[in-house]
Amino acid sequence: MISKGRYAPSPTGPLHRGNLRTALIAWLQSRLTDGAFILRIEDLDQPRVRAGSDLQIMDDLRWLGLEWDEGPDQGGSSGPYYQSQRGSSYQQVMDRLQEQGLTYGCGCSRKEISKALSAPHANPGVYPGTCRNRAGTSNREGRVLAHRFRLSSQPIRVVDEILPPRRYHPSQEVGDFIVQRADGLFAYQLAVVVDDAQMGVTDVVRGADLAESTVRQLSLYQALGLSPPRFWHLPVMVDGEGRRLSKRDGSGSITSDRKEGISPEKVVGQLAASLGLVPAGSLLSAVELAEELTIRQLRSRLRQAG
Ligand code: GLU
Repeated sequence: MISKGRYAPSPTGPLHRGNLRTALIAWLQSRLTDGAFILRIEDLDQPRVRAGSDLQIMDDLRWLGLEWDEGPDQGGSSGPYYQSQRGSSYQQVMDRLQEQGLTYGCGCSRKEISKALSAPHANPGVYPGTCRNRAGTSNREGRVLAHRFRLSSQPIRVVDEILPPRRYHPSQEVGDFIVQRADGLFAYQLAVVVDDAQMGVTDVVRGADLAESTVRQLSLYQALGLSPPRFWHLPVMVDGEGRRLSKRDGSGSITSDRKEGISPEKVVGQLAASLGLVPAGSLLSAVELAEELTIRQLRSRLRQAG
């Protein structure tokens, strides 16, 4: 089967170098396997979306030399490529999960959850299952509840192209998670699985800050009888003080670097060197970087960098 990769930014601000590095490696992975590359805009959480950020992201990616075969301005057989336009797909899957009894309504407030979690033996950060046996999707006052996915108690093995394999007990270590909020918004965990599966994505390359989400997503793949993609979780880029870069505070925004006249070859060289793919100081285009490496070399150098 031909491979299919994707880059799936949230349009919440200008891309920083960490985002760009993930995009570069996702693109590289698909080019080195002669695969197709998708750009998907993850604009589900509308209140966090910044108008025009999608166009800026596309402009910055193209400036870096990255092209996609399917995407918002490109079309393709598995569109639409904006999550905000894919609600009917999410609803269908949600209905299926509901019919299988795999979701339940939850009316717990944050305060109630943290109170239950402060009990001895509670696993920190894990939803304590308060509403697990609740029937119906609204509370006594008729208020619609959030929907949680009922995790199985079976262990799950997570394999990664870069990170070491790990065994999880999702129901104890992760906890039933929200798939649809009370306001009707579908959660990232559900949307990303539906999209990657419907778009035929075979390789998910993203930051290791999402590695913990993988176990939730694998549980959904399993419940839906879908085969999951391969995961490549890349090291997260940090600033000089060891802090994670953030889109919201505009740290290391590529848009401002561009204004100062930096060349794309310099940025590609710096990003690739930061993962040990090329020597420091290299100046090269994304296409030249793809000519320098094989997929095996990419995998082994990323493992060393991780
Ligand atoms: N939209 C997510 C982000 O920008 C990425 C999700 C993913 O790659 O699975 O952080």
